[in-house]
Amino acid sequence: MPALCFAAPVIRVLPEEQMRINLTESTVQPEGKAWDVRLVLSNDNDLPDGILPNDFRRWWHVEIGELRPEGETLNVHIENAGYRAGITPVRSDDGGTSWTRIAEHSGHSFIVHTKGTTSVRLAKWYPYGMGQFNSWLATTEGDPRVTRSTIGRSVEDRPIVLLSMTDPAVPPSGKTRIWIHSAVHPAENTTYFQCEGLVRWLLGDSAEAKELLRLAIVDLVPMANPDGVAHGNYRTNAKGVNVEVEWKAPYDSAVPEAVALRSAIEERMGTAQAPGSNPIEVLLNLHAAHSSGGPFHILHETAWPERGVAQVVRTLEDQWVGFLNARSPFARASRNDISSFSIRQYVEAMMHDRYSIPGPWKPVMAITMEGTYQKGRSAGVPCTPDDYRLFGEETGFALRDYVVWLPEGRDPEN
Ligand SMILES: [Zn+2]
Repeated sequence: MPALCFAAPVIRVLPEEQMRINLTESTVQPEGKAWDVRLVLSNDNDLPDGILPNDFRRWWHVEIGELRPEGETLNVHIENAGYRAGITPVRSDDGGTSWTRIAEHSGHSFIVHTKGTTSVRLAKWYPYGMGQFNSWLATTEGDPRVTRSTIGRSVEDRPIVLLSMTDPAVPPSGKTRIWIHSAVHPAENTTYFQCEGLVRWLLGDSAEAKELLRLAIVDLVPMANPDGVAHGNYRTNAKGVNVEVEWKAPYDSAVPEAVALRSAIEERMGTAQAPGSNPIEVLLNLHAAHSSGGPFHILHETAWPERGVAQVVRTLEDQWVGFLNARSPFARASRNDISSFSIRQYVEAMMHDRYSIPGPWKPVMAITMEGTYQKGRSAGVPCTPDDYRLFGEETGFALRDYVVWLPEGRDPEN
């Protein structure tokens, strides 16, 4: 009797699709009528262990190909993960066009049944590849309210794109500048959907969005670490650098992604002798975190100059959080963190220590906002990209409220 013989499924990593797995160690073995699929996480850029912290291994995304269309069962086990959180993974049966959560999972193990397809994509959370990003960018083309530019180029020469949005019929004099950069940690993917929602809202029909664009210039860097996305890194650029902490010595940094952000911020702030005409007054640093709650902020302790920020800045942070909570039930249900901010390694430190404190600039409200991977908008339903797109809209409404409030808020004695 001939042995039951057919080809095993294969594990693939496709370029530019934000895919990452250790292809050498991951395996597919027969297990009865099913397949035992071991997906072994790898370090960013496939670096050997010991260079990056183990807890940087937080992203995995693969394609399993050569499936028989009549149907397969894959018993999938995620191994070597640098996280313990029970995040419901996602699957796509149409080459990454549409995704659904895999509802049933036990820790890092779950079962995937396929039928009518020769490949399935599996990921820790909803991926965001370069193709998806470029398609989305194209939707903003030709809108007179959007100016697209490149503030620098990554280690591997990918453009770091800035979308500057304002109402061109209103002269810039007196407009408040808002600066937002997203996904310095490239697989913190809630941020991309938050940016998509914010831009959809800004260019949409609401009276509040139109008002905000009359009053403000919104500078958005939606993908601050494009090489990281292309390589499927969780936290670092193409050289394995965690760009986020370059701010501990920002003027010494030669990391292209950090230099691009810093230079564009410096250009807008100007110097004490010649401040910019529309300096940044609001800065949002968008990230995502492993947390059981919903989206939250990192507020700062008020123990300046020992640590934290000056009270005047914290007052602005509290106002911002209040406006966001008023617009977003999703954010309102979460608790914010308070950072001692003793190691001044984030962009907020540069904005505080270089601009808010010495002046002549008005104090800058600079804060980190974190999305999360699990909690959705209703009980028991994990979050989706649309939840975060809606969160981007809510962020827009809150920015409008903050900018309308700002003239009195920034001069509290008047
Ligand atoms: Zn982050």
